Amino acid sequence: MPTIQETINSGCWEECPRQEQFIRMARDEISLETVEQFYNFLQGEVPPQLYMKRPPHLSGAMAFRIIYYLQEIMGVLPDKYERCITCGCIYDSENEGSSARGCHCDGCRKD
Ligand SMILES: [Zn+2]
Repeated sequence: MPTIQETINSGCWEECPRQEQFIRMARDEISLETVEQFYNFLQGEVPPQLYMKRPPHLSGAMAFRIIYYLQEIMGVLPDKYERCITCGCIYDSENEGSSARGCHCDGCRKD
């Protein structure tokens, strides 16, 4: 059985009726670290491979609204990543945290 990467490289997935499934599998492999890096970028932390004179300077809450749009409307980021309303960190809600009284990471949950 070919790996996901081999299937993507072959290009056959474009005609495949399972295209949506492959896109979903590729999206779900986007790591917490990658989403954190994007979250930090939106708050002004430019990765070394980019040169940018005027990077974005959003608050954490505003930065996560962009991530939320990419999760819910465009479907390009996994929707399991949440922002803790207490400390502002991004966490994987499938592995930790609670959404009982607003989203909280394991360090901040109160249940
Ligand atoms: Zn927290």
